[in-house]
Amino acid sequence: MPELPEVETVRRGLEPVLVGARLAAVRQNRPDLRFPFPDRFAERLDGATVLRIDRRAKYLLAALSTGETWVTHLGMTGRFTLAGTTPGAFVHAVPVTGKHEHMSLDAVAGAVVTRVGYTDARRFGFMGLVPAGGIETHAWFAGLGPEPLGNGFSGAHLAEAFSGRAQNIKVSLLDQRHVAGLGNIYVCEALFRARISPLLPAGKVSRPRLERLAAVVRDVLTEAIAAGGSTLKDFANAEGGQGYFQHRFDVYGREGLPCLADGCTGTVTRIVQGGRSTFFCPVCQKG
Ligand code: ZN
Repeated sequence: MPELPEVETVRRGLEPVLVGARLAAVRQNRPDLRFPFPDRFAERLDGATVLRIDRRAKYLLAALSTGETWVTHLGMTGRFTLAGTTPGAFVHAVPVTGKHEHMSLDAVAGAVVTRVGYTDARRFGFMGLVPAGGIETHAWFAGLGPEPLGNGFSGAHLAEAFSGRAQNIKVSLLDQRHVAGLGNIYVCEALFRARISPLLPAGKVSRPRLERLAAVVRDVLTEAIAAGGSTLKDFANAEGGQGYFQHRFDVYGREGLPCLADGCTGTVTRIVQGGRSTFFCPVCQKG
């Protein structure tokens, strides 16, 4: 499932193709993904120019010249494919699209036309059109906490959000009201790096450790985005195969393997919290 760094990598891959481009030949190949497409979806995109592409939590937000924002959530298997054709220059093969391509369009930037497709085998993704200025109050976004890479996220914010909370720190960090877009993998990685036990009640984590936690959340996400950046070329040439980068994790998915912390002799353990797997080292993530 794409987490925040993967979605940010997709945003960076789409930005040079879509920003400033006019959308044309928009095709919608089925009525719905996880939710129905908006009414007259293709018609409302057709002819619009993309002003910019932002990300909020795990949503991609393409601001359009029509005053609407085209919102995409990739769900579990959603991906954009790009195929560039430059008249007069080498014409790249159009990717194999198959039955899972649910919408497509041409991004027209001067003489350069790039075909953009959206495929989603499991259809947990969804798209919407939201009026500009209506994003923060829309049901998908209202109540989301600060962006973990934004200015609103800090040890002070976590201290306020977690004050008096008996719920464990792991499940509390996954709560999107406290921090937006942070998923299971990166919560495990951040708690490991901060050496905080996932079992500790959120309200019992000291202020200095929350400061450290906020810093390592930024670090693990920033490093993952940097690792994803190296595969942008592959992403741009995506042909339905491996689209998301495989990042190396310190603790996630390493059940039964030796802890990677310097000098620690512990073994990575898996437990289930809030219905999700937590990977941690019971030796160095004690308190
Ligand atoms: Zn350890």
